[in-house]
Amino acid sequence: MADKNFLSWPFFDERHRALAAGIESWCLSNLSTAHAGADGGAHGDLDAACRGLVRRLGRDGWLAHTAPDPGSTAPLDVRTLCLVRETLARHDAVADFAFAMQGLGAGPISLFGDAEQRRWLARTRGGEAIAAFALTEQQSGSDVANIALTARRDGSGYVLDGEKTWVSNGGIADVYVVFARTGEAAGAKGISAFIVPGDAAGFSVAERLDVISPHPLARIAFDRVRVPASAMIGAPGEGFKIAMATLDVFRATVAAAALGFARRALEETLKRARGRRMFDGALADLQLVQGAIAEMALDIDAAALLVYRAAWTKDSGASRVTREAAMAKLFATERAQQVVDKAVQLHGGDGVRRGHIVERLYRDIRALRIYEGASEVQKIIIARQMLAGG
Ligand SMILES: Cc1cc2nc3c(=O)[nH]c(=O)nc-3n(C[C@H](O)[C@H](O)[C@H](O)COP(=O)(O)OP(=O)(O)OC[C@H]3O[C@@H](n4cnc5c(N)ncnc54)[C@H](O)[C@@H]3O)c2cc1C
Repeated sequence: MADKNFLSWPFFDERHRALAAGIESWCLSNLSTAHAGADGGAHGDLDAACRGLVRRLGRDGWLAHTAPDPGSTAPLDVRTLCLVRETLARHDAVADFAFAMQGLGAGPISLFGDAEQRRWLARTRGGEAIAAFALTEQQSGSDVANIALTARRDGSGYVLDGEKTWVSNGGIADVYVVFARTGEAAGAKGISAFIVPGDAAGFSVAERLDVISPHPLARIAFDRVRVPASAMIGAPGEGFKIAMATLDVFRATVAAAALGFARRALEETLKRARGRRMFDGALADLQLVQGAIAEMALDIDAAALLVYRAAWTKDSGASRVTREAAMAKLFATERAQQVVDKAVQLHGGDGVRRGHIVERLYRDIRALRIYEGASEVQKIIIARQMLAGG
C-alpha cells in the first residue's frame, strides 16, 4: 500500500483527498496492470491501448481535469493534475501518458485559446479527441527558439511546411498544437502556435519512433498544410511565450509522474524486503538494506514537497512558477531514477527480469529526465531565476 500521509499536508483541500481516493479506486478497477507486479505493463497494440485509455479516462470524467470547461474562465487545478498523474503513474505508465498528453496537448488552447478554439476542449476533456503538442524538431530540442518549420501567410490563412519530431501521440492524435516560424523577428520572437487537425491535407506521419518504455511517438511532416488564420493561438510571434507558459504549468506534473514511479518502486521494495528470506532472517533485517529504504523514502518525501509546493503556488494565483516547477522536475525525476535503481538492486536477479514491475519502472522513468526540458536545462532555468533575484 503506497504511503498516503502526504495527503494531510497543508497543500491540499478536502476535495483533493477525495479525488486521490477516487482515482486510486479507478486504477484498481480499470488498469489490468495495477499491482499485478509481473506482467510488465504489456499493452499489446500500443495505439489501441492509448485510444482505449483516453476513451475510458474521458468517459469516467478524469480528463475533465486536463482542461477547463470551454465556457469557463476557471484556471486548471495543478494539484489535481499532479495527484492524478502521480496515482496513474504508480499503477501504469501508459495510463499516465494518456492522461498527461490530453493536458499538455490541449494546454496552449486551454491557456491562450479564444472561444472558438476552446471548442476543442469539450472533445479532449471527453476523451473524444486525442491531443498532441508539436514543438521539437530534429535541430531544435533543448534549443527551442531554433525551430525551422515555417508558417507562411497566404491569403486568408497560413501554409505550414517542415517537420516535427518526438511528438507524443504523433500518428494517433486528432488535434496538434504546432509551433511554427512566422518570422516576425529572429529566434524566439518569430514563432507562432497553430491548431492543426490530424486529418489536414498535406499532414503525414513520416516515421514512428520506438523507445525503451511504451509511448506512441512520431516524426510528422507538413507539406503545404493550409490552416485558416483563425487557427493561430494568440497573436503572431507569441508562440514561444505560449509554449513556455504551457510547459511552466505542466512541468510540475512530469515531476508528479516521476514521484508515482518512485512510490511504486518503494512499495515493491518494502514487500520484497519483508518477504525475502536470507541469512536466517528477512532481507529487511539487513542494515544496509534499511539504509537504502531510508534514502528512498527521504527522496520521495522531498520530491513530493517540491511537487506540491509548485502546484500549490500555481493554484494560489502565482502567474508563473518557473523556479518552483523546474526544481520539482529536476529533483523528482533525478531522484526517482535513483529510487527505482535501488529497487532493482534490492530485487536481485528478479529486478532485471524483463516484465518485472521494477524492470518496467527502470525503463519508464528514464525519458522524464529528458523531455519537457532536460535536467541540465532545468538547472539553467533555476540558476537564471536566482541570478535575476528569485
Ligand atoms: C519520450 C519522449 C516524449 C516526447 N514528447 C514530446 C512531445 O510530445 N512534443 C515535443 O515537442 N517534444 C517531445 N519530446 C522531445 C523532448 O522534449 C526533447 O527530446 C528534449 O527537449 C531534448 O531535445 P533533444 O532530444 O533534441 O536533445 P538535445 O537538445 O540535443 O539535448 C541533448 C542533451 O544535451 C544536454 N543539454 C541540453 N541543453 C543543455 C544545456 N543548455 N547545457 C548543458 N547540457 C544540455 C541534455 O543532457 C540533453 O538531454 C519527447 C521526447 C521523448 C524522449
